[in-house]
Amino acid sequence: MSTNSSVNVSVKEGVQAADDIVLDAKGIIVDYPVRGKKPFRAVHGVDLFVRRGETLGLVGESGCGKSTTGKSLIQLPRPTQGEVMLGDLDLSKLSQKELRGVRNRLQMIFQDPIASLNPRRTAQEIVMDSLTLIGHKNPKERALEILQSVGVDRQMASRRPHQLSGGQCQRISIARSIAQEPEVMICDEPVSALDVSVQAQVLNLLEEMKEEYSLSMVFISHDLAVVANISDRVAVMYLGRMCEVAPSTELYSRPRHHYTNLLLDSVPKPGEQRKLKPVQSDSGQVKYDGTGCPFASRCPAATQICKDEMPELKIIGDDHQVACHHPIED
Ligand code: ADP
Ligand code: MG
Repeated sequence: MSTNSSVNVSVKEGVQAADDIVLDAKGIIVDYPVRGKKPFRAVHGVDLFVRRGETLGLVGESGCGKSTTGKSLIQLPRPTQGEVMLGDLDLSKLSQKELRGVRNRLQMIFQDPIASLNPRRTAQEIVMDSLTLIGHKNPKERALEILQSVGVDRQMASRRPHQLSGGQCQRISIARSIAQEPEVMICDEPVSALDVSVQAQVLNLLEEMKEEYSLSMVFISHDLAVVANISDRVAVMYLGRMCEVAPSTELYSRPRHHYTNLLLDSVPKPGEQRKLKPVQSDSGQVKYDGTGCPFASRCPAATQICKDEMPELKIIGDDHQVACHHPIED
């Protein structure tokens, strides 16, 4: 079944009831101040939502604004414009104090686990601190239990981050987040800094934790193969904008945006030994003056309208959105 591509109804209404949505961001704009110049806009009006219990992947080349988008969801820092709804709560309207009161519900895990942990605290203390924040009565014992559940034993629990490996530190930062009983976990390249041999273990752990604690997840990575594997739906970003959002299997088998297609070309198919085709980096090489489609200069299907008019993100099929004047034919 496919929906008419010009239906004027939001994907959410068209597909599932709104109470299924745990996190809903609309029109997110993030400007970074630049000394003596006008601010740099890293995110240009991004919309995204996360359904209860799902993993939404966020993928795109380095520098396209994935981390900035992720941080705007937890309001660190607050986006320049846009609304972030956590359930019925509009985070963008809360005071700093109110925000602190709900911060536990949204947790973020970063790429560099060692740097994101307090070097002076042991693993157990790190998780205890997290439990204390939500007023847990017996943080000492509970910290050990949570650490055990992420594969950190009692002996390791008494060590400090620099005495542990990157993989162990990432387990501890997952434990620290879980301790806060979040509804949504935002994982920003959580395995990119780890040895290849431990990446799969940490990905498995994240999936286990997601099931055990009924979490919803935003999974950020520059690696489409990793994202497609772990995510239910995938959102593809390019130069601070969303270009395509679709269920993983659909995005993988029937990409509609030419940029997604390019990213897929660089992902080896199962059994294929092909080397990754390097995707041209955005930094400095792509000239885009803000009119038309940001991808037009690299797009094989670009015509005049692509240079003149910014394509909007529109529904193109079941649960599938694309921002393109000439989407790839179904
Ligand atoms: P990604 O996570 O996709 O690699 P980022 O969100 O980190 O992208 O960055 C998006 C853009 O914003 C990049 O051009 C980056 O250089 C810029 N940027 C990120 N953080 C800052 C900052 N604190 N100040 C100024 N510019 C920043
Ligand atoms: Mg990043």
